Amino acid sequence: MSNSIKGEALIGGVAVTGAGATFKAFDPNLEQAIEPEFRAVSPAQVAEACGLAGEAFDSFRATTDDQRADFLEQIAAQILALGDELIVRAMAESGLPRARLEGERGRTVNQLKLFAELLREGSWQDARIDSALPQRQPPRPDLRLRFIGVGPVAVFGASNFPLAFSVAGGDTAAALAAGCPVVVKAHSAHPGTSELVGRAVVEAVRRCELHPGTFGLLSGSGHGIGETLVKHPAIQAVGFTGSRSGGLALMAAAASRSQPIPVYAEMSSINPVVLLPGALAARGAEIAAGFAASLTIGVGQFCTNPGLVLGLAGKDFDAFAAAAAEALKPLPAGTMLTAGIARAYQRAEEELASQPAVTSLLRGESSGCKGAPGLFVTTGESFLANHLLSNEVFGPASLLVACHDLDQLLQVIEHLEGQLTATLQLQEDSESDLAAARRLLPALERKVGRILANGFPTGVEVSTAMVHGGPFPATSDGRSSSVGTAAIQRFLRPVSYQNLPRALLPEVLREPNERGVWRRRDGLLTRN
Ligand code: NAP
Repeated sequence: MSNSIKGEALIGGVAVTGAGATFKAFDPNLEQAIEPEFRAVSPAQVAEACGLAGEAFDSFRATTDDQRADFLEQIAAQILALGDELIVRAMAESGLPRARLEGERGRTVNQLKLFAELLREGSWQDARIDSALPQRQPPRPDLRLRFIGVGPVAVFGASNFPLAFSVAGGDTAAALAAGCPVVVKAHSAHPGTSELVGRAVVEAVRRCELHPGTFGLLSGSGHGIGETLVKHPAIQAVGFTGSRSGGLALMAAAASRSQPIPVYAEMSSINPVVLLPGALAARGAEIAAGFAASLTIGVGQFCTNPGLVLGLAGKDFDAFAAAAAEALKPLPAGTMLTAGIARAYQRAEEELASQPAVTSLLRGESSGCKGAPGLFVTTGESFLANHLLSNEVFGPASLLVACHDLDQLLQVIEHLEGQLTATLQLQEDSESDLAAARRLLPALERKVGRILANGFPTGVEVSTAMVHGGPFPATSDGRSSSVGTAAIQRFLRPVSYQNLPRALLPEVLREPNERGVWRRRDGLLTRN
């Protein structure tokens, strides 16, 4: 199959022209449409991709861990083989700079390789063996548990990560690793980037001689495709990153099925940064510079963007606010991902600025597809009194909240919805900062998925111990992560085998343990 952009969807290993409406990508830097024309897929084409994914499930999950690891590595190789065409197209469709997209491609490829390593290591199946106790009254049967893939997964590509959270991004890598076929709904903002990566995945499917239904790519603009996809009976779970309204709509669609399915939607988060007094006094200006950089990186279009800063009112807080505004002042407006996201940012920033008891410290000039930094300040009382102040403003704007004491700061944290992250700026040698942090930690643990000290929340390591998730509305299900190897758990479910003859057991539960995979035997971890 050619790997160039033709405006096609990919179903059953072949490129097909959509049977729905036409649309084009849009270059937010040039503010003009980009060729070629794409056609949205029809409901019948969505059903075909899902049906094929259902057909592929049993043969795909029967592949060995090594075979699926090879497949993930092959996808990574095919993405790299796309060369500069991928980067150039992604730059045009997202307005993101080359260095960022090259970095994101590296992250995407490494993410695939990390899941390949996880498969080769083997413990992802969480094998457990409770040996038979025939003498016990009542006798205990031989019980063996492992996890299997849930079935075909629908993945929605994210606008703000055209590579790492899109066609072959974290959700797709996790689902494929789990043995689940994937049907991707490409984000309508970057259909060309999606098609290129989709063709790379299809080539990997072909080279690894997998069922062609293992992967499908649906193009289109408009919510009908997403809803049809989520409601197809073959689909067994959904991965989504985007708006709260989009995530809620897909959750409702999934819940309305005759067989409801889980939706792992990452939606909105304002990522509070808490400035403890010792840190503010010792290095307020340095923190302000780091905060300004974190707020504006990628024109603020990160789910981990620091949209809320909490501290205790006083001269150190005022000095921090002035230093942050000063650091942001020279920064120009940046091109946002889409005209719609830029409009939404401008509207939300304006709304924040117009709230009673909110003072604008800095408002840059935003227009067209460009968004400029905004910095605002209010008091703890006003924040607690106005729920609009805790809405996500997706872009480079942040609200500073001056609390009159630690009790009120804790109240503000309790008032927040679920978040992806919370950051504590503290002095490790300050007993009072440590005591304050100890008071805040139980509330932060309840509210967020990742707690950081003395850093900034943007920049999410793809690793084993990462959690990129959090209570609603940060995500629809705070029990999991969408980044790192823990993401595989979202697409798995346990199966227990009672007294099955050895010949019928899956390899990971058989004796002897030929691969030496870690298993929990009678409660203890062992490689035997
Ligand atoms: P979006 O509008 O939620 O779209 C994401 C994907 O879901 C797209 O494929 C979209 O289809 C589909 N979709 C949206 N609503 C749907 C519905 N009701 N039914 C079925 N499918 C639906 O998100 P976006 O375009 O990326 O950005 C819009 C806003 O989302 C931003 O301004 C920002 O506020 C928020 N956002 C937040 C994060 C975060 O990480 N917190 C990340 C990205 C965006 P189409 O492609 O056809 O529109």
